[in-house]
Amino acid sequence: MDTILVINAGSSSVKFQVYSIEGEGKLRRQIKGQMDGIGSRPRLRATGAGGDPLADRAYPIEAVPDLPTAMGVAGEWLREEIQVTPIAVGHRVVHGGPDYDRPVLIDHGVVARLERFVTLAPLHQPHNLTPIRSVLTNYPGLPQVACFDTAFHRTHDPVADHYAIPHQLYAEGVRRYGFHGLSYEYISRTLPSVAPDIAKGRVIVAHLGSGASMCALKDGRSVESTMGFTALDGVPMGTRPGQIDPGVVLYLLTEKGMPPAKVQDFLYRDCGLKGLSGVSNDMRELQESTDPKAKLAVDHFVYRVGVNAGMLAAALQGLDAFVFTAGIGENSASIRARVVEQLGWFGARLDAAENARHAQKISQAGSAVPVYVIPTDEELMIAQHTLALLMNGHSHNRAEKVS
Ligand code: ADP
Repeated sequence: MDTILVINAGSSSVKFQVYSIEGEGKLRRQIKGQMDGIGSRPRLRATGAGGDPLADRAYPIEAVPDLPTAMGVAGEWLREEIQVTPIAVGHRVVHGGPDYDRPVLIDHGVVARLERFVTLAPLHQPHNLTPIRSVLTNYPGLPQVACFDTAFHRTHDPVADHYAIPHQLYAEGVRRYGFHGLSYEYISRTLPSVAPDIAKGRVIVAHLGSGASMCALKDGRSVESTMGFTALDGVPMGTRPGQIDPGVVLYLLTEKGMPPAKVQDFLYRDCGLKGLSGVSNDMRELQESTDPKAKLAVDHFVYRVGVNAGMLAAALQGLDAFVFTAGIGENSASIRARVVEQLGWFGARLDAAENARHAQKISQAGSAVPVYVIPTDEELMIAQHTLALLMNGHSHNRAEKVS
């Protein structure tokens, strides 16, 4: 059975999925797993196609101190115990820089180019590149594909792509990139089967998870996003603030004397729902909490999603549909209900019963703006891109390990 391995590597975890290639290029998810707690409490967990447990193992911290070792341990488990020998590997890479507007087959030249974007995404890009390098070294004949979170947004008009700063910085790469592109691309490709009448229209997609952003789609293409140069901008997130006046950053640096590295850590890890509530970064815990600050954090989140919807609708010059996706968007009926209430001035009307049962369409029949819930699948998107590039004339090289 030919398979494709999808890898999504972060600072403390590496997630992986294995897809089998069925007839007519169809893909079926066979394994979903992750090694998390790297360098703290390493644990390998994996399930099969039906959610059946395949592995759940804890490792001593010395056995998995870093990402390359985690890759090695997970790779050995896949190869030796599950007998998976993929014909290609697809990687999630957060930053494709100004030029990559689509996935790319990886070679040493591509890796060198992607290394240049480490400065644009210092917390993510290095981790995304680690497994790519390790596969290049150990399995040089195995095709690898990089799929970028930024690529889907490269269709933005220059007027949306710029900050009002001197052009030299734009030329260096300081641009409004936008992220979560693989999720938005998946939704864009799914919309024609869910709602063919609006798939070509003006649609806002709200990807609300622990990372959260929103995207304006016109005719299935991204025209605007709430995220910009980094994944800090836009709506509030689990631990990131979303839109913030740069003056606050200056205040932290000059008045509070915080070193830049501390400010970075603060903005990525201590703000958002966690910082505002002082309770948790998890929406479920906030909704269960009786702490008034937890309520404020949830209220702020809903409010900012509504305000950003207004901005994106202005970019689209109207609104034909609104789509919820990701952890909060797919699972929290109460947050969806409150966001749709914020969209009331667009003429959006919630169908409470359909929302409560997590139906695909959760707006009333007469709602001026139909509202949908579409579960996202970024990993499937990566597997599809990887297969498409393979079928584009690339020969299949089975993984032959270099000793
Ligand atoms: P990411 O992929 O960015 O890590 P997810 O898309 O998995 O995040 O979303 C995770 C978030 O979804 C969690 O922080 C949690 O707060 C939220 N979430 C999941 N299920 C629910 C639920 N039933 N109600 C409210 N929030 C939920």
